Amino acid sequence: MQLYRVQAIVLNSYEMRDAHRVLTLYTREKGKVRAVAHGVAKPTSKKRGAVQPFCHTDFLLRRGRELDSVSQCEGREIFPALWADLDLMSYAGHATGLVDRLTADGEPDQHIFSLLLGILRVLEKTKKPELAIRSFELRLVSLLGYLPHLDSCTNCGETNLSPNSYFSPGAGGLVCRNCRTPGTADCFCGGEAVSVLKALLNWELVTVERIRITRQAGAQIKLIMTEYLKWLTERRSGPLEFMEKVRDYKP
Ligand SMILES: [Zn+2]
Repeated sequence: MQLYRVQAIVLNSYEMRDAHRVLTLYTREKGKVRAVAHGVAKPTSKKRGAVQPFCHTDFLLRRGRELDSVSQCEGREIFPALWADLDLMSYAGHATGLVDRLTADGEPDQHIFSLLLGILRVLEKTKKPELAIRSFELRLVSLLGYLPHLDSCTNCGETNLSPNSYFSPGAGGLVCRNCRTPGTADCFCGGEAVSVLKALLNWELVTVERIRITRQAGAQIKLIMTEYLKWLTERRSGPLEFMEKVRDYKP
């Protein structure tokens, strides 16, 4: 029987038969880990609160042949405000879902752990969750090695981009009007959107709610991040999906 301790954020929790739940955890020590929590869906279970999605919890896990299991757990932070507001819950679900989709099992990254914990704490208090979540997305892609290039055209190097530049997900940053490829996912990015993107990356996560932004620039940034994350998700899940297809292939 091999036991190990981790500090984790619960990304997902799926109910199985007999009141068991399968948890996907992002742990500080071991990255993404899946574990089964026996009997936690019973109303009498004392572990119930600490295994809910978004919970920041200390776990004692037992190594298993197929899945590890929860031996003990104690919640540190349960973020009640996220559960009381449907919008906040969906923002928190978006953040945990991105970490789940974009990270591989067993690859720890303390910066990603701190960023995820940081966004849950900010969402619990902020009045501008939209700005906080955009900042989280930008920081997450940067930690994964995809820091967007925002100082010049990624293709020709032109630095005088204002007011009409575009964000190209495939190029990983801005492109000028001449270098954009019409008919692709390249998104319009005005001067204000460029400035706000830089501020969202550079300001502390807890202070980004002070950034002033027009509705128009907010919509541009939302579209840019949607397209960039879509491109990144396809890129990172591509080989895995391919392997699953190969495995399931029956001639
Ligand atoms: Zn160019």
